[in-house]
Amino acid sequence: MVNAVYPGTFDPITYGHIDLVKRATKIFDNVVVAVASSSGKQPLFTMQERVTLARNVFSDYSNVSVVGFDNLLVDFTKDHNASVILRGLRAVSDFEYEFQLAGMNRNLAPDIETIFLTTAEQYAYLSSTLVKEVARLGGNITKFVPEQVIAEIKQKLG
Ligand code: ADP
Repeated sequence: MVNAVYPGTFDPITYGHIDLVKRATKIFDNVVVAVASSSGKQPLFTMQERVTLARNVFSDYSNVSVVGFDNLLVDFTKDHNASVILRGLRAVSDFEYEFQLAGMNRNLAPDIETIFLTTAEQYAYLSSTLVKEVARLGGNITKFVPEQVIAEIKQKLG
């Protein structure tokens, strides 16, 4: 059994994240979407709201679970019997931070490997930050996030 943890802020979950998870379910036995509290980033949605949104998206996937976390990622990964940390790469600009993060996590836990999946090209430009920005300015976000997420963003932004 190879279990993977896919950590992120998911504020909110987008079709880019969803595509990555769907592809990962074909490679790993179980995928745990790990929703970081990321309080330093001052997220639009609370951790519980982000967990609920992601859970609804993956409710039909028996090998995907969604869990919030606020502790060290490698500890969370071990606690979930996972040996892989999964991350997505969109552009070269993602690389430097991801490289640093993977190096730090390998240092902390040499038995855990970080594995990257590259974005599907139609989602290469897609980020939660941009989705919120477009929504704030009244733009159409139907191509970027599921319907339920749109409703929640609208409610949040009033
Ligand atoms: P974080 O705050 O940890 O970057 P995000 O929720 O922004 O959390 O992203 C979680 C992971 O998903 C990161 O590895 C990020 O590169 C990846 N990701 C985000 N958007 C996309 C996308 N459109 N395509 C592929 N991967 C993505």
